[in-house]
Amino acid sequence: MDLMILGGTIVTMSSMGIIRNGAIIIEDNQIIDVGEAERLKNKYSRYEKIDAKGKVVIPGLVNTHNHIAMSLLRGYADDYPLKEWLEKWIWPLESKMRGYDIYIGSLLTAVESIMGGVTTINTMYHYMEDGNEAQALAEAGMRGVVGHVCFSWRKDEDRRRLEALARKWHGKANGRIRISVDPHAPYTVDPDYMRELKSIKEDLNERYGSDRNPIIWHIHLAETADEPEKIKESFGVDIEGGVVEYLNSLNVLGEDVIAAHCVSLTERDIKILADKGVKVSHNPISNLKLASGISPIPKLIKAGVTVSLGTDGPSSNNVSDMFEVMKVTALLHKGVSGDPTVLPAESVLRMATIDGARALLWDGDIGSIEVGKKADIVILNFRKPHLCPLYSEVSHLIYAAKASDVETVIIDGEIVMEDREVKTVNVFRLMDQALRVRDDLLNRLETDG
Ligand SMILES: [Zn+2]
Repeated sequence: MDLMILGGTIVTMSSMGIIRNGAIIIEDNQIIDVGEAERLKNKYSRYEKIDAKGKVVIPGLVNTHNHIAMSLLRGYADDYPLKEWLEKWIWPLESKMRGYDIYIGSLLTAVESIMGGVTTINTMYHYMEDGNEAQALAEAGMRGVVGHVCFSWRKDEDRRRLEALARKWHGKANGRIRISVDPHAPYTVDPDYMRELKSIKEDLNERYGSDRNPIIWHIHLAETADEPEKIKESFGVDIEGGVVEYLNSLNVLGEDVIAAHCVSLTERDIKILADKGVKVSHNPISNLKLASGISPIPKLIKAGVTVSLGTDGPSSNNVSDMFEVMKVTALLHKGVSGDPTVLPAESVLRMATIDGARALLWDGDIGSIEVGKKADIVILNFRKPHLCPLYSEVSHLIYAAKASDVETVIIDGEIVMEDREVKTVNVFRLMDQALRVRDDLLNRLETDG
């Protein structure tokens, strides 16, 4: 569709900075012009217009760590430590989930994400051919990297599912869907399998990927301080330094690795992450809720690591709200460092946009509003009491705006939400389906034990 977004304040997150009374011109799925409204409005006068007067326009937010199907488990088990939470509550119920359930749960998170200004999600879950996250993101009109999570106890099954996921989905939905290879964590994936998953990723890349369209590696890493003990317990491996150092000794780290959490790090770990170009997904709300600890984000950034932001799954957050994550990120690191100059609003907004795109190796196409990039654009209504008066758009975006201020969302040049009406999915019918899926799941858990 040929579109002109006219009259808003554009926070480009590119070298163009902030453009007041600006315009963005979109042809098909691409941004072909950005600048002042005065200059562009006559030049493209026949394009369909979206009036953005009094509004703020930003690049779509990039959520770099989620398990989108887990919306079905939202609020199912709160206030437990990670190990008990996973082993006693989450994994038993998840073992009852079927493809259709995963699809419905994922669609629910997709809709929630769109309504909160997220246009790209990096998600890790069980891939099933008869219903999955990729299908849901594609249907909702979203962009995403969809992984299959791998464990040592199901290697053959993982190998099959990774192949199926790559064949069926990589580069599909007009290039909106990419896939990833996802070792769950160093304590659930043994050293040999970890190395194998690295070579599986390389093999899949050769057959299905390209430099412009890569298959990446997505892992939970150093989420809690006891990870070395868990690795020893699971695989009898003695770890001398940190967990990052251990993974590096397996030769699996590189620029195409996105590591979620990175809470418990040694100084050497931080240096390795920087040297190897590993990308970090910071998930402060999940880390706080599970009391996992606080990632040394300012140190990572100082060391030169690309840090992006994620919500984590909807059962450890419990929402996929990136506005909350942005605000908590800015506040948390000020609080723990005792330094209010740490992580200013501008840096946090970068983490949620252009650095998120970088973390997924997708910054050639998304993460900022500039000519040649894909049109993933979010328009927020700033004519609200909690956003008045206005001194700095960026300040409001981090400290005052809410997901519900998002009004219109464009992904890949398509309007997926307009004036808060989602165009791609019937939201009320979906919520009914989600309730039925929850009931069926609980029934199966009760009947099968
Ligand atoms: Zn996670």
